[in-house]
Amino acid sequence: MKRINYTFLFLLCAVLPFISCGSSNKNNAQENETEEQALVKAPDFNADSAYTYIADQVAFGPRVPNTAAHRSCGEYLAKKLEGFGAKVYNQQADLVAYDGTILKSRNIIGAYNPESKKRVMLCAHWDSRPYADNGEEKYHHTPIDGANDGASGVGVLLEIARQIQQKAPAIGIDIIFFDAEDYGTPDFYQGMHQANTWCLGSQYWGRIPHVADYKARYGILLDMVGGKNATFYYEDYSKHTANKAMKKIWKTADKLGYSNYFIKQDGGSVVDDHMYVNQLRQIPCVDIIDYNPNTDTGFNPTWHTIDDNIKNIDKATLQAVGQTVMTVIYNEK
Ligand SMILES: [Zn+2]
Repeated sequence: MKRINYTFLFLLCAVLPFISCGSSNKNNAQENETEEQALVKAPDFNADSAYTYIADQVAFGPRVPNTAAHRSCGEYLAKKLEGFGAKVYNQQADLVAYDGTILKSRNIIGAYNPESKKRVMLCAHWDSRPYADNGEEKYHHTPIDGANDGASGVGVLLEIARQIQQKAPAIGIDIIFFDAEDYGTPDFYQGMHQANTWCLGSQYWGRIPHVADYKARYGILLDMVGGKNATFYYEDYSKHTANKAMKKIWKTADKLGYSNYFIKQDGGSVVDDHMYVNQLRQIPCVDIIDYNPNTDTGFNPTWHTIDDNIKNIDKATLQAVGQTVMTVIYNEK
């Protein structure tokens, strides 16, 4: 994913104030209501288990579309979801990358309680970037392990799938692994830079969902949720389009004692799968993404570098995110 520049932010703010003002008044009343209710305790998220699923993915090698590692990992993910009792949908698609490369892509969806109309979707991207283009120049064409950027969100969601199989929440859950998120135009590309080259898998799913007219109350996107000392701020697009769900997540984290991870302050804005989920399916979707106010990019220092590897995954961060997301979904009625 990529950070949005300020021009776009300005546009976004110019277009959306009506919507956000309209919904924020209503939100306050609803939030006060929920505040009075005690949280239902969710099952205990197991960070060791999530970590293993991350290590499993990384062990295939970089999951860059059109590679053997990518194909094998896709099989692994679908089998895992099946093993955890989900109804699995595989969306195979040929998606066109920024340079015209056809990416043999696969969105993988695991549905729980598919008959229920009350649904929440949880998502993450499972591909890894073909370029370490935020690191030293000599590595710009080296694919990354994507332990954090890709595998961490998927690892947390696989652990949640395992938990759902043991004790189902009251609502239906869809776990969606989007492909081809991180094949966006690198700065070194000499050709024309076009729009919408990131998040190709979620754009495809947004146009052709795995079931016709797919709807969910809201979505939660996990992206880079395994870094050391990660901090999750209010991502700007989420704040404008999924404010109610976003506040609910941050409040839940606070109640669970994770306010050192979930910071109730504004962070930056990113182009990520949540944008297309919202734009193409009108499902408010919150991006839980590590925002680092101390780096030039706003991302974790390992972002799009060869240091995004398993050594830089922290189980404490996985625990904070996994337990928070589980508590949110087990509190849906
Ligand atoms: Zn990335």
